[in-house]
Amino acid sequence: MSSPQRDEHDRSVELFARAVELIPGGVNSPVRAFRGVGGTPRFIRSAKGATMTDVDGRTYIDYVGSWGPMILGHADEEVLDALREALSRGTSYGAPTELEIEIAEEIIDAVPSIKMVRMVNSGTEATMSAIRLARGVTGRNKLIKFEGCYHGHGDSFLVKAGSGVATLGLPDSPGVPASVAQNTITVSYNDAVALEQTFDEHGADIAAVIIEPVVGNMGCVPPQEGYLQRVREITTKHNALLIFDEVMTGFRLARGGAQELYNVTPDITTLGKIIGGGLPVGAYGASREIMNNIAPAGNVYQAGTLSGNPLAMTAGLTTLKRLRQPSVYEQLERAGQRLCDGLSKAAREAGVETVINRVGSMWTTFFTSEAVTDWTSAAKSNRALFGNFFHAMLNEGVYLAPSQFEAGFIGLAHTDEFLDRTVEAAGKAFEAAKN
Ligand SMILES: *Cc1c(COP(=O)(O)O)cnc(C)c1O
Repeated sequence: MSSPQRDEHDRSVELFARAVELIPGGVNSPVRAFRGVGGTPRFIRSAKGATMTDVDGRTYIDYVGSWGPMILGHADEEVLDALREALSRGTSYGAPTELEIEIAEEIIDAVPSIKMVRMVNSGTEATMSAIRLARGVTGRNKLIKFEGCYHGHGDSFLVKAGSGVATLGLPDSPGVPASVAQNTITVSYNDAVALEQTFDEHGADIAAVIIEPVVGNMGCVPPQEGYLQRVREITTKHNALLIFDEVMTGFRLARGGAQELYNVTPDITTLGKIIGGGLPVGAYGASREIMNNIAPAGNVYQAGTLSGNPLAMTAGLTTLKRLRQPSVYEQLERAGQRLCDGLSKAAREAGVETVINRVGSMWTTFFTSEAVTDWTSAAKSNRALFGNFFHAMLNEGVYLAPSQFEAGFIGLAHTDEFLDRTVEAAGKAFEAAKN
């Protein structure tokens, strides 16, 4: 949005040089380091609505939204007011509060499969706890996940894990014991036959299948017609639990998440991102029967010093209340369509081959001519072209995720004006990307 002529990120360069001396790779989460696209990450000073401003004073239209949580936009006035009020009553008690009941009620009211819920501090914690619960309930050890799906950085999940891991080109992570990894079986996404075959072979040992019902972490990849229903049928047949990892899709695709949108009911659901309203939160929920296995109701242990933190609950609850009206999701769908129609047209006009996948307010532009339905097809995207496009967009004042294998997020603060400005920027960026 400001002039792209000069190199205007001197202060970011300076801060990054300091950061790499003190923090591994200069960042506290890998993809932020821009290694997938090259260049120096922008250090952010502030954010408001649909925009972020960096330490050099450049303002960007933001489609990362803190990787999903900021569905209301940054620094939402109502969230800030609620936080200020909560702050004055103290930041943490380590004892129960009424707020925890209220957010549990809100989540249970929204998400079809959840009748009881436990709050934790991150999506990673939610998925790690969910898999322990599934193993505790079934008495089985093996876990099936899908290539390119990311479920946080728990040991069991760092096998063919999409986004951050894929961006760095690390197949698996050192430090994950083989004895743990061997309990994780990976299957191609959108391939129900492969899943069936895996169950035919290992069925009696499989505790759970964990899936991103709409994948965000290899870029946006939707389930094919009937696929989630088949996954449900196969897991039921083999008495394995089905875990929908809705850390990204929960309250994003619909108030009840992907399970509402596709009308498929998992056994366990994990949440995060939006339910914290920009503060660190995760949650996992299921039927009462399943959840009553969690300590202290049951024997499956899981705890947290800051779990249910009053500030986090306040930001989350204030956000979730605003997502009660169906009109919110209609607005996000319209915005998603407007943006992606515009991006498709801009790419066509520039003569750049793209496949744009979108579900509601989540989308990814892949630089390929083939349909992207799984990790193998996602990986065919031309990443050099993506890198060029990413930097050209940044130069035009549009902040996209610095990796091909991420979803973009539209929020309620992305007005038509912002969307149209983005499409205009993309017209130039597609042209620039070719050269
Ligand atoms: C972001 C994400 C996680 C991990 O959540 P963190 O809060 O980063 O630990 C897990 N699963 C999915 C689907 C995610 O998108």
